[in-house]
Amino acid sequence: MTEEDERDPFCNKEQIIKQAYYESRHTYVLYNLYPVVKGHSLIVPKRHVTDLMQLTDKEAEDLLKTMRHVIPVLLKAYKCESSYNIVAQIGEYSGRSVEHLHIHIIPRNKFDVYQDYNDKLYADLRKYELRHLAMHEIENEVAKLRKLFHYKPKKI
Ligand SMILES: [Zn+2]
Repeated sequence: MTEEDERDPFCNKEQIIKQAYYESRHTYVLYNLYPVVKGHSLIVPKRHVTDLMQLTDKEAEDLLKTMRHVIPVLLKAYKCESSYNIVAQIGEYSGRSVEHLHIHIIPRNKFDVYQDYNDKLYADLRKYELRHLAMHEIENEVAKLRKLFHYKPKKI
């Protein structure tokens, strides 16, 4: 990846297509390369924006609909019943690492490592200190989720 892609991997179509397991008209759903728990996913607008406020009404509606479509299936796949966190770091003082808007969906269950340490979850998200999964590990999770969503990425 180039330096530009490091800063904004979500405008890099080649990278996106490796992580995507669902897409709608304006939104991608990606498996996070730095998962804090299994199933940690990212909701990413296709158009480059840095803030929710920059989305058009159509894009915002599509983003929320996509989240509502994906979350129940994701939670079931990772046996998280109805528990999850939604987190976004927006703006330069928020601790964001990538400027392109992305919303974290973090499935939670009573066995996860953050159970008694919600503060640590947010600290880990801020630092992005977590283990970078090997590409084959990402591919396994993505393949599993693609099946659930009957999703085949379009050729780039
Ligand atoms: Zn971007």
